[in-house]
Order: sequence, then structure tokens, then C-alpha cells
Amino acid sequence: MDHPADYQDSTRCVQAGLPEPVPGEPLLPGPVFAAPYHLDPAGPAPDQDGYARMDSPTRRRLESAIGSLEGGDCLVFASGQSAITGLLLSVLRPGDTTVLPADGYYTVREFAASTLRAQGLAVMLAPTAGPYPPLVGVRLALLETPANPGLDVCDIAAVAAIARAAGTLLAVDNTTATPLGQQPLALGADVVVGSGTKALAGHSDLLLGYLVTRNEALLARLRQWRNQTGAVPGAFDAWLAHRSLATLDLRLSRQSANAAAVAAMLASRTDVDGVRWPGLPGDPSYAVAARQMRRIPGVVSFDLGSAERVARFLRGCRLVAAATSFGGVHTTADRRAQWGDDVAEGFVRLSCGIEDTDDLLADLSAGLDGAG
Ligand SMILES: *Cc1c(COP(=O)(O)O)cnc(C)c1O
Repeated sequence: MDHPADYQDSTRCVQAGLPEPVPGEPLLPGPVFAAPYHLDPAGPAPDQDGYARMDSPTRRRLESAIGSLEGGDCLVFASGQSAITGLLLSVLRPGDTTVLPADGYYTVREFAASTLRAQGLAVMLAPTAGPYPPLVGVRLALLETPANPGLDVCDIAAVAAIARAAGTLLAVDNTTATPLGQQPLALGADVVVGSGTKALAGHSDLLLGYLVTRNEALLARLRQWRNQTGAVPGAFDAWLAHRSLATLDLRLSRQSANAAAVAAMLASRTDVDGVRWPGLPGDPSYAVAARQMRRIPGVVSFDLGSAERVARFLRGCRLVAAATSFGGVHTTADRRAQWGDDVAEGFVRLSCGIEDTDDLLADLSAGLDGAG
């Protein structure tokens, strides 16, 4: 549906990707389960769905929804990793140079170290907080801001200006921020990539990835890549993600408010080190985040010194699930070093859920008190 551009966030989320109202039909139609569809006996027609690797009404509605929030044309993928690796492999050619975040999602660095290097690509790593290398001769640069898990923030518009001058394609991983937190395309990026698995879908029940761009040639290349590799989400996951989008603003608002209270509480304790939250005044990311981001996500990181102390803390909490991933309605915490992330042994990434703030603060405080 076409909407006035001035609707606010929650209205946009509720309306995103809904079809025109049809009497007797649901507001958000359910998932269409199909691999092949009936064809006209005379053969396939361009405006008819034929095979679900290419064509899916459920997927198109979700793409319309995410595209409207990010401000471009969207392709959804089976996971964030399939979207990111699809972008890298469809754009980069042997001999090209790419710049990736030194402190971003670690599987992307692992993929670069194995597959990209083996294909004769030069991979440079740049810290999210800068300084940023000159991009002359770089085919594709990927930013991730705020970076997961360290939560440094990068000035997208500043890097976009450098990329434009150098003729470098700029991609931004918007997973942690979500399209309500910042709009990389409006800040000058060429393509947004994200994992919908995290806050976007937000219920810890599905995997999803997406790419959004206004560059038609790039969109065509990415669509061809997806059609040929088949990295599409199933109908039920696509529908579930679309249903979940309606509450994105509500969920982020509470997660962000919880994170503000939790970060302040953690920073006030003498037994917690290295508290990071880009919305915390005094945080190294605060100034850029305040300028660039429309809201700060619910993820807070801190250091409890050792794996044993993190385990005691988690056992002492009743509302905090030990789980990887983040952005869900339930508060979760993850000791990132256990997965090979390049962080201290006691580094914790805490993802604030939508529980009541006072309950969460009391629970975390009890967990810390009991952790020694
Ligand atoms: C989780 C994550 C990914 C990968 O997404 P999956 O859906 O797990 O494949 C990519 N980038 C960031 C920043 C992430 O947090």
C-alpha cells in the first residue's frame, strides 16, 4: 500500500508490506506453501508464480515490508550469513580487494579467511571505530555498526563519502541497529545487509537474512545469485518474520529503555568492568551514535573477568537465559569467548529483552551479587 511518508515508526511497522484490503481476505495473508505452482498448460507467464526458489508471494510481502523500512528494494535470504556471503561472492572477483570489519560478526571474518582468500581476493580488516584505510582500489567495503559484540560505532556518512570518491561499493550490516535505529542508504551506503534473526524478527524462533539497495544492477545480480544458489527462507519463516515486524517499534523501545537502565546500573558497580552501550554518556561511541542513530539497541557488553564468574552470574539470574544471538523478547547473555570471538574470557554480551525494567534490574543485580 502507498502511505504518506510522514507516518511514524510504529505505524510504518504495522503497515509494512500489507496488501491492499480485500473483503473476506485476512489482513496479513498466511504463508503460501508451494514448491511448484500450477502453470498455464501453454507454459509459464511472466506475472505468474512458477517455482518457489524464484517466486513466493509470502516472501515478496516480507521483502516489501523490510524494503519500506530500509528505503530500497529488498531480497530476503535463508540467514544473515547467506545474505552477506551472497553479497561478497556475487560482487567480488579474483584479484579484488575488500575491506571488512576487524571487530564485527566473527563468521564473516572466518569466511573471508577461508573462502575469500582461497579465491585470490585480498581481504583487509578495519576497526569499526576507525581510523579507516583509504579505499582507492577497494571493490567492496563492509561496515558493521554498532559492531557485534564490541559495540563500537562507525560514522557511515563519512565513510560513504570516502567510498564514493574511491568508486568503492559500500555495504552496511544493519543487524544490531535495525532499520528503525539507522538508515544506511539515506546516509550514503549502496547496500544494506542484515540478519533478521536478531531484533528484526525478535522472537528467537527463526533464521532470516536480507539485502536492500536502490542500485538496480546490483539488485539484479543479487537476485540472480539467490535464484542460482537457492538461499531462500521457507514460507513459514518468511510469514512469521513479517508478523513479528508489526511489533518492532514496541520491542525496540522497551529493549532500549531496559538497556539504558541496565548500562547505568552496571557502570555504577565497582565489580563490573568495561561497560559498553552506545547510548551511555561517556561511552566511546556516544557522540557518533547520538548523531547517526535514531535509537540505541538493547545490547550491552561488559567484562566479568573470568569464565567461572560469568557462569556464576548466569546461574544466579532467573530472567537471563544463557544463549547466543540477541535482539529477542527474552533477555539473554552470551560469553563470546566460548565461540572463538576475539574478546576477553569474561566478556559478556547482554541482550535486553522486553521484561519490566525493575524486574530485570533486580534480577541482574542479584546475579552479580551472587557471582562474587
Ligand atoms: C547474527 C549476525 C549475522 C549472521 O546472521 P545469521 O542470521 O545468524 O546467519 C551477521 N551479522 C551480524 C552483525 C550478526 O549479529
